[in-house]
Amino acid sequence: MKEQIGVVPLGEVPTLAVEVIAANITAYYKLPADVLPMRPIPESTFDEARLKYNAGLLINKLDALDFEGYSKIVGVISRDMFIPIFNYVYGQAVQGGSLALISLFRLNRNADGSTPSTSLVFERAAKLALHELGHLFNLFHCNETKCIMHFSGVIEDLNKIPFYLCRDCARRLPR
Ligand SMILES: [Zn+2]
Ligand SMILES: [Zn+2]
Repeated sequence: MKEQIGVVPLGEVPTLAVEVIAANITAYYKLPADVLPMRPIPESTFDEARLKYNAGLLINKLDALDFEGYSKIVGVISRDMFIPIFNYVYGQAVQGGSLALISLFRLNRNADGSTPSTSLVFERAAKLALHELGHLFNLFHCNETKCIMHFSGVIEDLNKIPFYLCRDCARRLPR
């Protein structure tokens, strides 16, 4: 199947954010990427104890939807997400699979509590999407700090990572 990437807003997500993500996917991976119609957030994935959305359950819900013609899907959500072993996650992906998710929630604040410019928020969102998509292409976390596949645990890490896939990771990409 020819690679065709779909970027899906889950619930209310700024239109420009998903457009910037799709444009960056095309620019960096040289693949066609479309913004797909918004899908409602499955409320059953909300965890009443953590007051966040369960990223793993969200991925399962995405899996149950039909995205005909798209080989890989990147879901974008404005709400906070977690996985059982982490209090929060910026993104989540099925390694080597077809579904990834990113959350804009924690991109809207700087480490010092100040509010970033909209362009910086979009830049962070695009980096996250490229990172999670890398997992879908079966790339693993990279030790190279100047590589999009380097793990970002906090927002400063994400700021420091450039829009760049190191030579080793680029070589591992399926052609
Ligand atoms: Zn990762
Ligand atoms: Zn790398």
